Amino acid sequence: MELIVDEVHCGPTELAWNDRMSRLALPALRPIRERRVVIVAPHPDDEVLGAGGLIQRALRDKQIVEIIAVTDGEASHSNAPVQPKELAALRERESMLALQRLGWNRPSITRLHLPDGNVRGHLRELNEALADFLLPDDLCVAPWRSDGHPDHDATGEAAVRASRGVGARSLSYLVWAWHWADPEGADIPWAQSERLSLGRRSQARKRWSSLAFQTQIRPLGPTVAEAPILPAPLLRRFWRSYEIFVDDCGDNL
Ligand SMILES: [Zn+2]
Repeated sequence: MELIVDEVHCGPTELAWNDRMSRLALPALRPIRERRVVIVAPHPDDEVLGAGGLIQRALRDKQIVEIIAVTDGEASHSNAPVQPKELAALRERESMLALQRLGWNRPSITRLHLPDGNVRGHLRELNEALADFLLPDDLCVAPWRSDGHPDHDATGEAAVRASRGVGARSLSYLVWAWHWADPEGADIPWAQSERLSLGRRSQARKRWSSLAFQTQIRPLGPTVAEAPILPAPLLRRFWRSYEIFVDDCGDNL
């Protein structure tokens, strides 16, 4: 599937998603009893967009939180004049700032430096890195393996496989699925999904945190190639009062 994002292709409205979500009445996210919460992010911003509320919850509950940054996000504007190295450095700083805005003074981030846009070509490396990192009493939180972006799908697949291998529990977060899925349809496995409701403070912190990703939400320059990856209608999806997590048991892997 090709993800198209521009002024015409903004995906379903927030009204449509919120309406569907209120009718679905998903069960609340089960309490997290694991010692560590390991958030796997294919690009620097996914950790906050997909799980910024969960990170705050885990920090509040004095759990150990770890971020695994799969790529440096150097290819988000591959046809723009900005140098990939420069973009990677900017995005690294944005991610650090965003996590600090969630109330995390010294974020712990392990960077794997896999190539942005070609995680699937390095799936073995990713599998091994995750299997090395994860412990049986961890909760691993990664993108849903059908999220719709190739790096997200590959990362999600590796996370479920590595978690199963070590006996850790895994949950999946949604980022791009909100863009392409049909709110009235069954693209997202609702029967396996749980909802984390965010309080007003947590929601506000997540919104403030998401604004740290300036390279993604503002144009880098005047050309089409420098247009925002997350224009306002998309960014607002991550300002909701809830996050949804799919409990993916990885049966068909
Ligand atoms: Zn991403």
